[in-house]
Amino acid sequence: MTTKTPTAPTPTPSVEAPPAIMTGEALQPLTLADRCDSCAQPGQSRWKMAATTEEPLIFCGHHTRRFLAKLRASTPYASLINPGVIA
Ligand SMILES: [Zn+2]
Repeated sequence: MTTKTPTAPTPTPSVEAPPAIMTGEALQPLTLADRCDSCAQPGQSRWKMAATTEEPLIFCGHHTRRFLAKLRASTPYASLINPGVIA
């Protein structure tokens, strides 16, 4: 008697980063009042950069995807990306 254990292939994510990222301190969830710093569309991600003590940077989905590599390379000490932005 053999027990067959089905092994479903593990889906590999299409992107390196998970849909939601939070590092360092907890950041407030984004609201409609949070607007992209580049184009004033509704914010989809918030970044606190180590190099500055100013207000966090906020970007819409378009600008989050556009600047993601640069933002992560700038070593934010806290970041929050709404699910679905990176996909
Ligand atoms: Zn934008």
